[in-house]
Amino acid sequence: MRRTELKANEIYLKYLFSERKKIERKIEKAKSILLVCDFDGTLVSIKSTPNMVHLPPKTKKLLFLLSGDKRYNVGIISGRPLCEVKKLIGLNNIFYVGNHGFEIKLPKRQKFVYPQAKKIRPLIKNLSKKFNKLLSGYNGILIEDKTYTLSIHYRNCLANQIASLKKGARSIYLPLVKKRKVRVTEGKKVIEIRPPLDWDKGEALRWTRNRLKKKNALTIYIGDDRTDEDAFAQTGKGLSIYVGAKKKHSAAKFYLSGPNRVVSFLTFLVKLENDRAKKSN
Ligand SMILES: [Mg+2]
Repeated sequence: MRRTELKANEIYLKYLFSERKKIERKIEKAKSILLVCDFDGTLVSIKSTPNMVHLPPKTKKLLFLLSGDKRYNVGIISGRPLCEVKKLIGLNNIFYVGNHGFEIKLPKRQKFVYPQAKKIRPLIKNLSKKFNKLLSGYNGILIEDKTYTLSIHYRNCLANQIASLKKGARSIYLPLVKKRKVRVTEGKKVIEIRPPLDWDKGEALRWTRNRLKKKNALTIYIGDDRTDEDAFAQTGKGLSIYVGAKKKHSAAKFYLSGPNRVVSFLTFLVKLENDRAKKSN
């Protein structure tokens, strides 16, 4: 398809490895690097239910090797609850951000919860009950109470039921959106109910970078979904990498086609560090 045939707001992202040399130089020059990855759809393929997902040992090893390098700070930012993503990754020397940024755990520090997010707990509990009651008739629906946010996964629902399911969900959340009691975002086959705060993966990335005193670090962010756009916008002169097709309206500059290519990129980063170490010996 020619560029002119794309819709006005769609752009081609650059394939990351098409600029391999340029990226190599950028990474080579950096004094410190903040490498941050989303989890589902980025490090692992999306499965039919969130609990079917496991981190491949190879990916874990690569994250472990990079996190052990003194130039690197490594972190995961996910929409999942923090304790869940921490368990799925299983590394201690990296930072974790859960619940789209509302929970943050830096190595050797206490968990931070965005203060105003705590206030939403009674409402999320109540909404969980309401959604379960209203949507129980739909096969394959999964309503996930994540303490500070709530997810309605409809990946396993019949295609012809999705419109009415969304309408049902809207009838519950729309009055609350109008009263600014919640904020709603949509991801891949998921509706997310969140606190009505200007806080997201991007703000959490900025907060974390400041806390780690890595304001000038080269920031690399890799993600696959709409909620990752906020974090792409926080990479400055770093690398923003969208995981998925190249034709996409995105704040990212580059793309990788899927989690397998993300593994190739992590392997590339490890190799660069090994080569550096050899050179300095
Ligand atoms: Mg994702």
